[in-house]
Amino acid sequence: MKTIGMIGGMSWESSLEYYRIINEKTREKLGALHSAKSLMYSVDFEEIKNLQYCGNWKEATKIMIEAAQRLEKGGADFVIICTNTMHKMAESVQNSIGIPLLHIADATAERIKSQGLKKIGLLGTKFTMEEDFYKERLIHKHGLEVIIPSPPDRQIIHDIIYDELCLGKINHPSKVQYIQIINKLVDRGSEAVILGCTEITLLLNQEDVNVLLFDTTKIHAETAVEISLTK
Ligand code: GLU
Repeated sequence: MKTIGMIGGMSWESSLEYYRIINEKTREKLGALHSAKSLMYSVDFEEIKNLQYCGNWKEATKIMIEAAQRLEKGGADFVIICTNTMHKMAESVQNSIGIPLLHIADATAERIKSQGLKKIGLLGTKFTMEEDFYKERLIHKHGLEVIIPSPPDRQIIHDIIYDELCLGKINHPSKVQYIQIINKLVDRGSEAVILGCTEITLLLNQEDVNVLLFDTTKIHAETAVEISLTK
C-alpha cells in the first residue's frame, strides 16, 4: 500500500471528510481492519485565507510547497491538496517535489468523462469559479464545457463557503440558496454540477437536487485510495 500525503486544514472541516473517506474506502476495498497509510500536514487556515484575500499568492505558494516537501520527507508516495482553490499553485507544488501530485480537477474530470457528460456547472470559491487555473484545465485538458453562476450568485456561493462552511456552520437557508443556484445552472444547460469546493458536501448532497453532482472531496479521496492500492 502506498502512503497518501495530504495537505489539509483548508479548512479542517473538509480535511476530516478526506480522512474519513480514505479510511472507509480502504476498508471497503481490503476488508478486515485495513485502513489507509497516510500523513497530513495541516495548515492554519486563517493565515491562508488572509493571503488569498490580499492576493499574496507568492507566500501562499511557498506554504503549499513547504507542506508538500514535508510530506515527501515524511515518506508520502504521492500528494493531494485537500482543497480546490489551492490548486491555483498545483504546478509549482508539483515542480518542487519528486513524488506525484494528484490534481483534484483531473480526478473529477475523469469521473465526468467516464459518464459521457460534457456541459458541466461549477460551484466553488470565486477564485475557483472565476480564474483560469481550474476551469481552463477542465476545458483544455479534458474537453469539458464549463458553466459558472452569475456574478451575484458567485458571491453568495463564495461567502457561504468562508463565513459558514469553513467554520462548520450548516444553515438551512444557505442550502436553499445553493439549490436555487444549481437549478439555474441546469436551466442554462448544465448536464451535471461539480461541487468544486471541498466543504460544499457538508451542506448538500445528491438527494437534495435532481441533477447529478460531482463531489470533489469524495472523488479526490476515493481516487487517492485507488492509487494507493495500485502496485
Ligand atoms: N476548501 C475550499 C476549496 O475546495 C475553500 C477553502 C480554500 O480556500 O482552500 O476550494
